[in-house]
Amino acid sequence: MKCEECGDEIRPILELAGRSAVSRDTCVYQCACGTCYSNARSERSRRKIVGSPELNVPAEVQPGLGHVLSQAVNERNRPTKKWKFCSDRSEDAVPWTVFRYLQGTRRLGLILSEESSLAPEPSVLFWGVPAGGSDPEPVADQLKDISRRLGERVSGRTEPDVIVVWSNLVVVVEVKLGSGNDRQPGKRAFERYLDKPYLYKQSTAAIMESGYYELVRNWRIGAELAERRGCQDFRLVNLGPPRLAEDTAVVTQQFAITPRRRFDCLEWRVLLRRIGASGSDPWFDHYLARRMRFSR
Ligand SMILES: [Zn+2]
Repeated sequence: MKCEECGDEIRPILELAGRSAVSRDTCVYQCACGTCYSNARSERSRRKIVGSPELNVPAEVQPGLGHVLSQAVNERNRPTKKWKFCSDRSEDAVPWTVFRYLQGTRRLGLILSEESSLAPEPSVLFWGVPAGGSDPEPVADQLKDISRRLGERVSGRTEPDVIVVWSNLVVVVEVKLGSGNDRQPGKRAFERYLDKPYLYKQSTAAIMESGYYELVRNWRIGAELAERRGCQDFRLVNLGPPRLAEDTAVVTQQFAITPRRRFDCLEWRVLLRRIGASGSDPWFDHYLARRMRFSR
């Protein structure tokens, strides 16, 4: 096949065929330019995998990415996370670009469904790693401590995609691009996150049965993070394609939602419309036009 990046013809390493590509060394198609391709049999289904995470986001949002990926709180997952980030179907490259852009242009308040007069520079964490703002390190320490007390292994910590902390509001964002929310009905580890009954309206059994493991973890951990920081308000934002609304209908029956502790489903197109309305840069629009085909 011809390399999409440099146009060179790539000679396949046929003995690697038939297995999935989990690193550059396991790809059948490895181009000398650094790009490689997943091992799908048909060329059209092959994912392009660039040589480094930075190459998969616009230059404007490259600074800081390498550091964050090397420190992501789920230690066991770090190499895989970095590898997946390089794919043209990465679930992480788009959120990084969008939130980093909002952070850089001091518009993170746009993730909220209401007009707000919040400070323009909140603390921000990506995958649990401090990434700017007024004072993100203590937030990261609190997150680790909550995880430890919940009994999570150091190698398997909950890793909220994005956390934004204002003086009186903690927002945890769980992002989906093309895929739906993670569901693992009956998973035993669920119980650990259901230890505070006031956060839920349904029984442990009912919540475990419907299986929204990732959302439950983020709800439990985000709520405690807000409490520990003395923030009155906590918001779990589920950002993704329109079909997440079906999940919202279920989890809003399970979570004990109050005016101060809320769950918001936010469609990508709604967020992008808000960003567009407040003015966006051509590089940003160009990137999203190419990368958001799967989630509209
Ligand atoms: Zn190439």
